[in-house]
Amino acid sequence: MSDDLGASKNSAYAPATTVYHFQNLSTAFNDSSSFPQPYHYPPDIILVTRPTYTAFFTHYHRLVTESNNQFGRLLESCKPPNDPGLPRRRPIIYVDENEHHFNCFLIALYNWSSQLYKPDTGVFSHVFNLVIKYGFKVRSVFSPSSGGFQDLVRTAETEALRMYTLAAHWDFEELAVSASRYVLRVADTIQNITDDHAETIGPRYLLRLIQLHETRKARLKELLLIPPTLHVDDTPACARPQRLSVLRAYGLAAGYVVWEKAAGVTVQEIKSILFGNIGTSISCPVCSDAVQRNIDHVLDLWSQMKDTI
Ligand SMILES: [Zn+2]
Repeated sequence: MSDDLGASKNSAYAPATTVYHFQNLSTAFNDSSSFPQPYHYPPDIILVTRPTYTAFFTHYHRLVTESNNQFGRLLESCKPPNDPGLPRRRPIIYVDENEHHFNCFLIALYNWSSQLYKPDTGVFSHVFNLVIKYGFKVRSVFSPSSGGFQDLVRTAETEALRMYTLAAHWDFEELAVSASRYVLRVADTIQNITDDHAETIGPRYLLRLIQLHETRKARLKELLLIPPTLHVDDTPACARPQRLSVLRAYGLAAGYVVWEKAAGVTVQEIKSILFGNIGTSISCPVCSDAVQRNIDHVLDLWSQMKDTI
């Protein structure tokens, strides 16, 4: 570590040609990194997290652009690079931050994906705090077209309710909508929401989530109550008792789906249950066709159901 890094002050200047001896050098942010446009030029400012003294080589303009507080006021007295008075010198700025959280924050600022570092919802929660602390807007840094937003949605696939809670807490509409789709897929989610969870989610987003589940459950019941339309006249192979038996089997299988499956049940699951229980056991080809048509119709309507808040 250089003398500069050991200093207790928050900033220092180092010549661009200095050989640095940091305790750690960020793998994503260093002089060899390939930065995205419009920052496709050598880093001109160095951020160092304390107490681990990990150096992140970044760009002054990325840190101040869109920041409403000069990057947490740390760059207020820092002159922009290429200032004629400061040739070949790069400011070193110290930040008292967890290096992992800070790394994921910077990655989001550069519109990269942080999947390599496997951030979970807890990490993203810290990152959101850093976004605010350094003067940015969460919904701007993590806009739906950004790499960071894709990371959030990917995390929601495995941590659906936690991500929905985070989104609701920040009133992050687009993220809440995306996460709600995955919340649907987790059975018994609504029943397992604790008081603390509910409080963090807040009444508005909680109500929308409950309404999504209730609306879908009601529609699922409605659709599965539609019986297949079987032929009226008896045939040599299929008399009324056989047809009643088909309707009974259909009703039992449909009832199983309604009572046992959650609002997130997929078309594939319904198909598998209905066909698995009745599809192969119907000996009358006319009844079999009718059941098949009914199932296709039900699944078609179900696939059109809205699956987000
Ligand atoms: Zn029949």
